[in-house]
Amino acid sequence: MTDKYAKPFNGLDRYAVVGNPIAHSKSPLIHEAFAKQTNQDISYERILAPLDGFEATVRGLIAKGYKGANVTVPFKFEAYKICDSLTTRVVSSGSGAVNTLINIDGKILGDNTDGVGLRSDIEQNLKFPIADKNILILGAGGAAHGVLNSLVGAKSITIANRTSEKALQLVMSISDINDVRAKMFDELDVPYDLIINATSTGLTDTALPISNIIFAQGCLAYDMMYGRETPFMRQARENGAQVADGLGMLVEQAAEAFYIWRGVRPETQSVIQQIRSLA
Ligand code: NDP
Repeated sequence: MTDKYAKPFNGLDRYAVVGNPIAHSKSPLIHEAFAKQTNQDISYERILAPLDGFEATVRGLIAKGYKGANVTVPFKFEAYKICDSLTTRVVSSGSGAVNTLINIDGKILGDNTDGVGLRSDIEQNLKFPIADKNILILGAGGAAHGVLNSLVGAKSITIANRTSEKALQLVMSISDINDVRAKMFDELDVPYDLIINATSTGLTDTALPISNIIFAQGCLAYDMMYGRETPFMRQARENGAQVADGLGMLVEQAAEAFYIWRGVRPETQSVIQQIRSLA
């Protein structure tokens, strides 16, 4: 499926974001802004892949000469499996999740820029250092897998997930941080410096069964979801936390993908403001 952001193929290098659903994706706007800013002649489309047709969709893009693609919900684990090779960043993370595909002579190289995007947004844009912080991650899906190893330097990491086995699996995959543990939502009974909501509950306006005690004084509550205040963000705000949504992460992970594809690093602040003003 192409949409109004798709440009005709006039010798431009073609890129796309593949997901299901995909209509809401802001990635075409972001990459269009990066391309304009850096004078790169590219096209970037949204592509809806059938839930049982991700690999066929990507193989079709490669056959048509697309230079690369971003991968979004729910295909990040599947993307990992279809890659011919993986970057060191993906291999060493042990996450099994890929969000950036690079077409190298018809072979697919997989990378994951979500972790870099999250860390850049938290440390550079929000000026909140991660070193020596006690961090709580809510959720253990593709997004949580992709970002965990970028939190190296944290004092401790606690992962809480509705399905406890998935939180335990995620804990087992972390090698670079010593103090890592899994808990159930109702076992969370101490304050944290940084709380990251990596569940998809914001999409359905669902509140998480978490105690107000988790919001330490001066803490940052970060929801990877963007576009509107989620129940998690509301609870955090009502408990005095500094609150942020995931728009900055979205733009920062896109900037890293753009750099991988084009060798040019775009400026992100103006693009974050531009996309936020459209919301
Ligand atoms: P997944 O589908 O892989 O994982 C969803 C997670 O949410 C699982 O941990 C799941 O728990 C949990 N969950 C879902 N519903 C509930 C519920 N009712 N109660 C409690 N937990 C629930 O999604 P992703 O990890 O890929 O994405 C998660 C969120 O992060 C999405 O909102 C996505 O848009 C956002 N995101 C934002 C990015 C950005 O750049 N800003 C980048 C990547 C993701 P369980 O295991 O029990 O099913």
